[in-house]
Amino acid sequence: MENYSIIIPSYTVGPGAYKEIPKYCKRCGRRAVVIGGHKAMAAAREKLLAAVEGSGLEIADFLWYGRDCTFEAAKALEEQESVRTADMIFAVGGGKAVDTAKLAALHLEKPYFSFPTIASNCAASSSLSIVYKEDGSFCDFVHFLEGAHHIFIDTEIIAKAPDQYLWAGIGDTYAKYYEVSLSARGERLEHFKAVGVNLSRMCLDTMLQHGEQALKDNKAGVSSYDLEQAALTIIVTTGWVSMLVARDHTMDYNGGVAHAFFYALCSLPGFEETHLHGVVVGFGVLMLLMIDGQEKECKMLRDFNKRVNLPVSLSEIGVTVKDVAKVADRIIADEDVEHYPYRLTRDMILDAARQLES
Ligand SMILES: [Zn+2]
Repeated sequence: MENYSIIIPSYTVGPGAYKEIPKYCKRCGRRAVVIGGHKAMAAAREKLLAAVEGSGLEIADFLWYGRDCTFEAAKALEEQESVRTADMIFAVGGGKAVDTAKLAALHLEKPYFSFPTIASNCAASSSLSIVYKEDGSFCDFVHFLEGAHHIFIDTEIIAKAPDQYLWAGIGDTYAKYYEVSLSARGERLEHFKAVGVNLSRMCLDTMLQHGEQALKDNKAGVSSYDLEQAALTIIVTTGWVSMLVARDHTMDYNGGVAHAFFYALCSLPGFEETHLHGVVVGFGVLMLLMIDGQEKECKMLRDFNKRVNLPVSLSEIGVTVKDVAKVADRIIADEDVEHYPYRLTRDMILDAARQLES
């Protein structure tokens, strides 16, 4: 038996979440540098500056992360004087900006704090950066042992973000439950993995309970209880689950057919540019359920998807059964389904696609 430690990022949520910045950040030093997206920094700037004023903390600079999360973009940031001399990094924005700031923090061995400005993914709380190549294609997953030192979720900023992010986030988040629980089926789970697998249930339940109202509130720009529950699930719960079920990288229960389905479709020309990841993954879960013989559950989720306007048919994501046949071999070969309770076949995938169409 080896020793191991589990470290899970803590969070503050609410309309005044940034007011807690001094309390959590001062222990890491005095100088912070903000790295983020343009829109995210514009949305957060005033609140960040107000939070540090008179606290003994200072924000040395606001830096744009770059166009994409690449090793080159992270390196350019690492070479900036204000980043090299900072005691801590504030990662502000959606997935890519936060992932890039995390990479720079990792390389420079500086603590980072995350400030998600949209509720669409778990980049703010996960210990993983998804890195792309300069040409926009996928490059690498970079895993960290430690995530953010603290996450600050300002629900007023999130409520004012475009609702398509939350919309896609809902599909990606309920997928976490179905994919993780299927990947872990029949396994003997260590403590932290069991916690992660059981916690994943909240990724579904909270979406079913609060997702529809949260979307309405996001459309209206209102920071409500439902929106807060949805944002916490998308940003925090999903990140905690993904950390816990992949803590030892020899066995990772993240991922499954829904993600493999999305990545395989991205090989079709123009698909990735015109579709939101979480929306397609949300439909991919219906495929997962049909393949797994869970017709009742599939029907329940289809009804939910209809209520929140997520796709329930292939045509709604602009593909046909023929297209699925073209990419079926990619789905089976995808690393997301490397650890699966049974062997996936082309026929299973095509049967599921046909059943969903009929
Ligand atoms: Zn995803």
